[in-house]
Amino acid sequence: MRLNSLLLALSIFLISGCNPPKQVPEVSPQKPKNVIFMIGDGMGLAQIQAAITAHTQSLNFERFKVNGLSKTSSASSYITDSAAGATAFSIGKKTYNGAIGVDADTVAQTTVLEYAEAAGLATGLVATSAITHATPAAFIAHQPSRKMAEAIALDFLATDIDVFIGGGKKYFNQRKDGHNLLDSLEARNYQMAYSLAAMKQVVEGKLAALLSDSGMPPFAQGRGEMLVPAALKAIELLHKNDKGFFLMVEGSQIDWGGHMNDMNYMVSELLDFDKTIGRVLDFAEKEGNTLVVVTADHETGGLTLLGKDVLTNPDAVHFSTTHHTAVMVPVFAFGPGAEAFGGTYENNTLFTKLMDALGLKTGQ
Ligand code: MG
Ligand code: ZN
Repeated sequence: MRLNSLLLALSIFLISGCNPPKQVPEVSPQKPKNVIFMIGDGMGLAQIQAAITAHTQSLNFERFKVNGLSKTSSASSYITDSAAGATAFSIGKKTYNGAIGVDADTVAQTTVLEYAEAAGLATGLVATSAITHATPAAFIAHQPSRKMAEAIALDFLATDIDVFIGGGKKYFNQRKDGHNLLDSLEARNYQMAYSLAAMKQVVEGKLAALLSDSGMPPFAQGRGEMLVPAALKAIELLHKNDKGFFLMVEGSQIDWGGHMNDMNYMVSELLDFDKTIGRVLDFAEKEGNTLVVVTADHETGGLTLLGKDVLTNPDAVHFSTTHHTAVMVPVFAFGPGAEAFGGTYENNTLFTKLMDALGLKTGQ
């Protein structure tokens, strides 16, 4: 026994002597200065695969080195809507379908955009829908229902957001309460733009660009090149802030193509979103201190790909529903702090990850 113990001690000494415990250097996770959060509404893996197939070459999605999976159910339903989905990202809590920036008890919760704004970062929202639509609204407004577009528009005056670009002008100036919020925005030093050309003229300061009366048209039906210049304009303006910025960019209509089971609509919206991702990644690569995270709120259409001719052969694609589905959606991350976005997690975890990346704390 004694000999055994001696041998054991000796071997431990020899092993530890030969392999001294390695000093693991304290690596604090990298903190980006800027965060660009991009949401492809209704964008599941099949939607991305369809766009890759139709495009016949690699997409910007393939430039990301870190991938994760987001579980999308809401507090009220196995299948989320866009309001609950975006609110999970913006406030960190799962809530009921239709909720805008409020928890499951309809209590307003501070959003990541509001925390960023309060910490002195520049903030922005860009969407290819009305800017009051569920996804962008969830980052700035607090209303019990996504249907309350005029109340959501009023909430844009409650937060000192620096840049917002999308449609939905009528919710600001053709209101039941008779208020003209465009005047109110102007009084708060927003430069107002009602066309892409006017938007491009703005080179510094605050910008409110409302490019249509209600929704925005589809890419292939009149909207054209809007998302790329809008995202780049937002970055150009927000990047002037020394403390950094938080920007949310939404490809809103991938979802609408899915609801209509219309492959051409869906793919053209996805390729527009991908092109925007490419330009955003170009900026992030050059700037060096920007985290880019791309995800979806849910999948739409239950899309299955059964063949290669996704745009020309109806037998090559199958939609199982005209609604949303419950399947997990991908997360793509690039830049300092990207590693935190790997893995499989609930959608509201993305709030914590975004807050951590920006060095922001809740309750402040
Ligand atoms: Mg949306
Ligand atoms: Zn939808």
